[in-house]
Amino acid sequence: MCAPRIVRVAHEQALARLTRRGLFAAAGVVALGSAATSAAVSAESVVDLTHTLTPELPVWPGNPPLLAAPVARHELGGFAQQSLILWEHTGTHIDAPLHRVPGGASVDRIPAADLVAPLVVLDISARADTDADAMVTVADVEAFEDRHGRIPERAFVAMFSGWERRLATPGAFVNLDPGGTPHAPGFHATTANHLVRERNIVGLGVDTLSLDRAADREYGVHTAVLGAGRYGVEMLARLDTVPPIGASVVIGAPTHAGGTGGPCRVLALV
Ligand SMILES: [Zn+2]
Repeated sequence: MCAPRIVRVAHEQALARLTRRGLFAAAGVVALGSAATSAAVSAESVVDLTHTLTPELPVWPGNPPLLAAPVARHELGGFAQQSLILWEHTGTHIDAPLHRVPGGASVDRIPAADLVAPLVVLDISARADTDADAMVTVADVEAFEDRHGRIPERAFVAMFSGWERRLATPGAFVNLDPGGTPHAPGFHATTANHLVRERNIVGLGVDTLSLDRAADREYGVHTAVLGAGRYGVEMLARLDTVPPIGASVVIGAPTHAGGTGGPCRVLALV
């Protein structure tokens, strides 16, 4: 495994970009780890790809929404706290291999080095505008690489379908048909297999509720990605505000033991 080296290279590339933009002094910054915690990091260099988690945020049909209840108040003891009841697959969240595969890695066992990666965004929003069942195909990947170059090793590859625009319209994000089947874009299973086997991605992301297109009941994308020990991130936000290639992503996954996934804070370093 060369993961530490690749992560170091990703850090160096991100640092070089930040430095080019004049956010750091020309000398003295030797590692993104120290830079990221420095006040010198501009807010514009970090893009939050996370939806604010509210009870109103759409969830997969049948899943309950977030329930947050105050259990301590400032006026009664000096500290405020809430108790949260939520399904792991709520809001912007990670799917651990265990979500799909018996015996797969739980979320606490995903290597930390896999959660920092080069970010690649495949934009199919024009097609998704007119086809709610649109899929990211291998041809989309090939067209992307013709234009932007080969997807780097151990990248995190995300689909931008523009689906979050539908959050403004009740029901439009889940998009149930009269028979109760949801319709939303996702990856094609062949594409997922290609990205895992030929590009060695660390994970796959979507701005919808499922890696597979929502109407799919084979779940071939989940099987291809999670079955290969990689992870998924669903319901990403603002992917249209980051470059298609060249940024890095940091996925702040939870670490509850035995978890099948959970809400994440996902940040792009642009
Ligand atoms: Zn999930």
